[in-house]
Amino acid sequence: MTTYQAPCIPGVGEPATVESYELPAVPADGILIKVELGGVCATDLHLGLGHIPGIAFPLNPGHETCGIVTEVGADFGTDVLGRELTVGSRVAVMPATPCGHCRHCLQRSPYPDCANWDVVGFSNPTTRPHAGGWGQYLLLHSGARLFVTEGSPEAAVLAEPAATPAEGLLRAGLRFGDSVLVQGSGTVGLLAIAIAAAAGASRISVIGGPARRLELATTLGASATFDIATSGSAADRRQAVLASSPDGVGFDVVVECAGAPAAFAEGLGYLRRGGVYVELGHFSDVGTVPINPYLDILSRDVRLVSSSGYTADSFRRALGVTEGLGDLASRIITHRLPMDRGQDAMDALRQGWQLDGEQVGKIVIDPWL
Ligand SMILES: [Zn+2]
Ligand SMILES: [Zn+2]
Repeated sequence: MTTYQAPCIPGVGEPATVESYELPAVPADGILIKVELGGVCATDLHLGLGHIPGIAFPLNPGHETCGIVTEVGADFGTDVLGRELTVGSRVAVMPATPCGHCRHCLQRSPYPDCANWDVVGFSNPTTRPHAGGWGQYLLLHSGARLFVTEGSPEAAVLAEPAATPAEGLLRAGLRFGDSVLVQGSGTVGLLAIAIAAAAGASRISVIGGPARRLELATTLGASATFDIATSGSAADRRQAVLASSPDGVGFDVVVECAGAPAAFAEGLGYLRRGGVYVELGHFSDVGTVPINPYLDILSRDVRLVSSSGYTADSFRRALGVTEGLGDLASRIITHRLPMDRGQDAMDALRQGWQLDGEQVGKIVIDPWL
């Protein structure tokens, strides 16, 4: 019997462990992937704390994942773009596979929706084994959406977090020459900058911090950066940020990637008349904020857009952008940890965003360390 190891969260609020599982035989409709990197994000923290309904514990986490095809069943089929999957292909994994037969699937909603998602990283090892993207192996079945990539593992693992800003900016209708303000310089904020730059934004301002993240933001394409810690009062910041917009009248598109309610209210004030506000940062309930529907929205013809997920099309475009980042993809990743430090990673996202003396950006698990 050959075994492999994968992190496991035994129950709500319990610390993650590393467990051994039997390496599965690959069925005709299956594909076995040797995981190279698995990303850690706040969703993993919320899963472990029981904030996401309908999850059966124990649970193998890891929905941001990529790896090398080690065995492919005769009936699995191709990747999303019709390309052959052969042993040795590197693939980026779109973690949620729709069932194909529920009403949402049958209606072909333009939004990602299914009553029976099979989600890598949300799976119980008994009822849906070999489906944690932080573990050493991953077994997927036909219908799973994979993308063959020539990019690095770092580029491939960033495709999933890049897909949400890609979807948001597509829904916003971003066009070349648009001016963009990104609020937040965490992983999603930095990837939003990379996507806006790839889409041909004429100028990109960013509000965030600390200084190292803002330097990286500049390298990724930001033309002006504002450190939230040193930019003075809200009024001072507002004046300085607006001055960086074309003619000082505000931005065509403002993207909220900070996840703070106050950022939402502040960000509406950075739009030009008729601009588009893209809400991407609030992936959990962190509170409310007062806004004035007349002054902040209607009187200025503002359009509001949000995105809680992405389609195969936006995932493909996001992967194209992360592949194009070259060595910069590695610089977005701040920590590379072995499987037995999965809990340390989630704790860092809960408390202070510091790990091993460094500010946390994107943490990845390398299951072979
Ligand atoms: Zn995630
Ligand atoms: Zn479905």
